[in-house]
Amino acid sequence: MKLVVKVGTSTLAHASGRLNIRRMELLCKVLSDLKNAGHEVILVSSGAIGMGVGKLKLSSRPSDTAGKQAAAAVGQCELMYTYDKIFSEYDHTVAQILLTAEDLRNEMRHKNFENTMDRLLKMQVLPIINENDTVATEEIEIGDNDTLAGIVAVSVGADLLVLLSDIDGLYTADPRKDENAKLIESVYEIDEHIISLGGGKGSSLGTGGMATKLRAAEIVTERGCDMIITNGEHPEALYDIVEGKQTGTRFYAKKEIK
Ligand code: GLU
Repeated sequence: MKLVVKVGTSTLAHASGRLNIRRMELLCKVLSDLKNAGHEVILVSSGAIGMGVGKLKLSSRPSDTAGKQAAAAVGQCELMYTYDKIFSEYDHTVAQILLTAEDLRNEMRHKNFENTMDRLLKMQVLPIINENDTVATEEIEIGDNDTLAGIVAVSVGADLLVLLSDIDGLYTADPRKDENAKLIESVYEIDEHIISLGGGKGSSLGTGGMATKLRAAEIVTERGCDMIITNGEHPEALYDIVEGKQTGTRFYAKKEIK
């Protein structure tokens, strides 16, 4: 199976912005094991800004562009250093790919990206993708890694996109506010009702939220790829996912009606 896994800042870092070492080790272990089992794995990882905030000991996420970009420049190093270190323990080689919206819009650069990804996967390398936050200004930014992960999944022809979040999936209401909220296990059509469940943004360190996840779902399901939102607290859930067991919320790809 060709699998794109997107992991959010809230999964990788504690609320302080510092690395959640146990979580990250577990995630890398499971992804290494899935690769050993023969799956092709691509990781889209957030956390550059969040980790930069932690490393620079800032009291909160900067609100200005230069501040965010500076934090990302520091945090991206820490992020890749940590991935490289942990994946190496399991004998896997990682590659860093940083993209802007401009790279994906430009036909030639997009093609180059696809060719590089293809070659990296043939070399058994595990590509780790993030937005190139240090140069991405408003006009050329993708803006959030859920959307980026959706675009990546389509570009590499993935079978499945998994978004590891700080929530178990899509609920009928906000479970943080409404105790009667129920998890929606399957979504076959992203209609207005589903979109209305999107709401705003999630954690204070990350960028995304349910709205950007639904946008990613729209991108991939239109192009024949399923998507799952599940809780990144338990990276072992990825084993169940590749075995086809019900986990979180699954958005089914649109099937052509013959
Ligand atoms: N690219 C940002 C980072 O690495 C995160 C964007 C997002 O969380 O959606 O910090």
